[in-house]
Amino acid sequence: MIEDKDQQRTPLSELGEFGLIDHLTKNFKIKQTTTIRGIGDDAAVIDFKGKQTVVTTDLLVEGVHFDLSYMPLKHLGYKAVVVNLSDVYAMNATATQITVSIAVSSRFPLEALEELYAGIEKAASIYNIDVVGGDTTSSTKGLLISITALGEVNKEKVVYRNQAKPKDLLVVSGDLGAAFMGLQVLEREKEVFKVNPKNQPDLSAYTYLIERQLKPEARKDIIALLEQLEVKPTAMIDISDGLSSEIIHLCSQSDVGCVLYETKIPIDPALISTCEEFDIDSTTVALNGGEDYELLFTISQEDFPKIKGNPNLTIIGYMEEAAEGLHLLTRAETKIPIKAQGWKNFND
Ligand code: ADP
Ligand code: MG
Repeated sequence: MIEDKDQQRTPLSELGEFGLIDHLTKNFKIKQTTTIRGIGDDAAVIDFKGKQTVVTTDLLVEGVHFDLSYMPLKHLGYKAVVVNLSDVYAMNATATQITVSIAVSSRFPLEALEELYAGIEKAASIYNIDVVGGDTTSSTKGLLISITALGEVNKEKVVYRNQAKPKDLLVVSGDLGAAFMGLQVLEREKEVFKVNPKNQPDLSAYTYLIERQLKPEARKDIIALLEQLEVKPTAMIDISDGLSSEIIHLCSQSDVGCVLYETKIPIDPALISTCEEFDIDSTTVALNGGEDYELLFTISQEDFPKIKGNPNLTIIGYMEEAAEGLHLLTRAETKIPIKAQGWKNFND
C-alpha cells in the first residue's frame, strides 16, 4: 500500500557487516550519565549506582508481529522501541538504555534499514534513552528485530504485578481498543488495494486509530505523574494483550478478584463510530484488542483523592477477595465472568 517503487536501493553487501553497523549507529549519542560505554566495544558498560536494574526484551518477526505492506519501516523502528520501554515503565522504572538486534534478508536495501533506524533514533531521542549495542546478521527470509531495554528504579519504588489487595481501586491510563481497530482498518485497506491498486483511500476518519496502531507511545508521562501525585501503585502491568488478559494477570498473581465496570472503560469517540461501521462491539474490542500500551494499575483507596478527576486516569473497577472471582458489570447491570481472549485469538 505504501510501497515506493522509485526508492534508491543500495544492496547491503556493498557495505559489509561492519560498514553497515557503523553506518546505522554513527548518529547515536550518549545522553544518560549511567551509560559508561556504549556502542563500539565487546559489551556496553552501565552503572546504576546502587539503584535496581530492570531488563526486558521483545522479539518481532515479519509476518507474525508486523506487516510491511502497511507498516512503514520508520514506524516499525519507533514501535519496536516503544513496546519495550512500556514494559520498563510498567515496573515504575525509568528507561535508560536499549540494545537493538536485527536479522535481515537481502530483500532489504540499505535505505530500508536507514528508515528503520530513523524510527529507532526518534524514539531514543523522545524517550531520552541511549542505544548502547546490538547485533546485526542476515536472515534467509524477512526481517527480525529484537530490542532489549534497561531501566533503573529505587528499590522502594519498584511495582510488581502481585501486590494488589482487595478493595484497591483499578485504574487505567488513556483509552483502550483504538490500536486494534486501527489494525482492522489497515487490513481492510490492504484487501481493497489488492483488488484495486489505484484506489486512494480516504482514511481521515481513522487517523487516531491508525496512529495508535502504527505509532503507539509508552506512558513515561504517567510514571512521572504518579511520582508527582505521590501515588505508588500496589500492582501494575502494561496493556499489550488486551485489558481482560492483563486484569487476569494482575488478579491471579496478586491472588485477588475484581469488579470491572463496562461503563467506565475509557474509549475514544472514533473507536465507537468505527466499531459501529465494522459491526463489532466496542467493549469487546477494548477488552480484547491489545497493543494499547496503556498502564493498568491498582492503588489503595487512601490514594483516591490524589488521582480523582485526573483526565489521564480512569478508575474502572476495584479488587475483591479472590473467592469473589473476576467479573465485568455490564451496562445492563449483569455480572459476567472476565475471560482471557488476547488479541491473537481474537483474530481467529
Ligand atoms: P561483536 O563481534 O562483539 O558481536 P559487532 O561487530 O557485532 O561486535 O558489533 C560492534 C558494536 O556495534 C558492538 O558495540 C555492538 O553492540 C554494536 N552493534 C552491532 N549491531 C548493532 C545494531 N544493529 N544496532 C546497534 N548496535 C549494534
Ligand atoms: Mg555481533
